[in-house]
Amino acid sequence: MSLPKAELHLHIEGTLEPELAFELAARNGVELPYADTDALRKAYRFEDLQSFLNLYYELMAVLRTERDFEDLANAYLARAAAQGVRHAEIFFDPQAHIARGVEMGTVVEGLWRALARSEDAHGVSTQLIMCFLRDESAQSALETLEAAKPYLDRIVGVGLDSAEVGHPPVKFREVYEAAAALGLRRVAHAGEEGPPEYIVEALDVLGVERIDHGLRCMESPELVARLVRDRVPLTLCPLSNVRLRTVDVLADHPLPAMLDAGLLCTVNSDDPAYFGGYAGDNFDSVQKTLGLTEERLRELARNSFLASFLEHDEGRRERYLAEVEAYEF
Ligand SMILES: [Zn+2]
Repeated sequence: MSLPKAELHLHIEGTLEPELAFELAARNGVELPYADTDALRKAYRFEDLQSFLNLYYELMAVLRTERDFEDLANAYLARAAAQGVRHAEIFFDPQAHIARGVEMGTVVEGLWRALARSEDAHGVSTQLIMCFLRDESAQSALETLEAAKPYLDRIVGVGLDSAEVGHPPVKFREVYEAAAALGLRRVAHAGEEGPPEYIVEALDVLGVERIDHGLRCMESPELVARLVRDRVPLTLCPLSNVRLRTVDVLADHPLPAMLDAGLLCTVNSDDPAYFGGYAGDNFDSVQKTLGLTEERLRELARNSFLASFLEHDEGRRERYLAEVEAYEF
């Protein structure tokens, strides 16, 4: 839990806890179709990715103002800090907000109000990654990148999320080329529910530097060899995989086999309010259920900082890595 770590796969909208959802609903006069927080918590039960996404988008209706996004990010950062997170690269989904009439500026500036004082308030350094919804059109992604141009000093990179199957990476070739031309870092969800070919495409066509999830690479020895050789980081989310039935039970998770194969794996929380735990909870669960040794846990923490977009501040990366090596279990 307290092992110093970076969180590299975290959707800020997925940190909306039932209590905060009700607080923001009351503040904004939004009616939620749940009697109370207990009823809402019961709704946090999913069959698959799509049934989760339906609730995820429904609850976003409570996020209206800069202050709402600031409160959301602050609540996450406080919880993350309590679980050993020292650095967080945070995803947000602007299209889901713009579609509801909430402007890009409201989202980015609201989040930024929390991020700008995160180091002082929580001891957590942060970066912001803007994700495109892959079940929306390529044109919509291009318009989203255009809308983000006034805020690029606040955004380190772009990502690709939401329903994977049927929406291959190649659909977003143009917007990733445009993002690269703007100097943005690139990541993408691939190989969660989609096939290993989507991982190859994300690397070859979109030029991504990290793969989010990527666990289905294990179906292709050739792809595993490539990911090991090129040291491509994978941002795994074990509790998310169980909740969304990507794996049946945590004991079946391929993480130990992936580490044995030499893959650069990291452990993250994805949508922690919905999936039963934050970054430390994920570490705790894989330690207990998969029997990872202390050296394996240290490797995962080390990997998280090695895979971070900290090239602008290598001294910071070195300090975080030193904290990992000095950590006593
Ligand atoms: Zn995700």
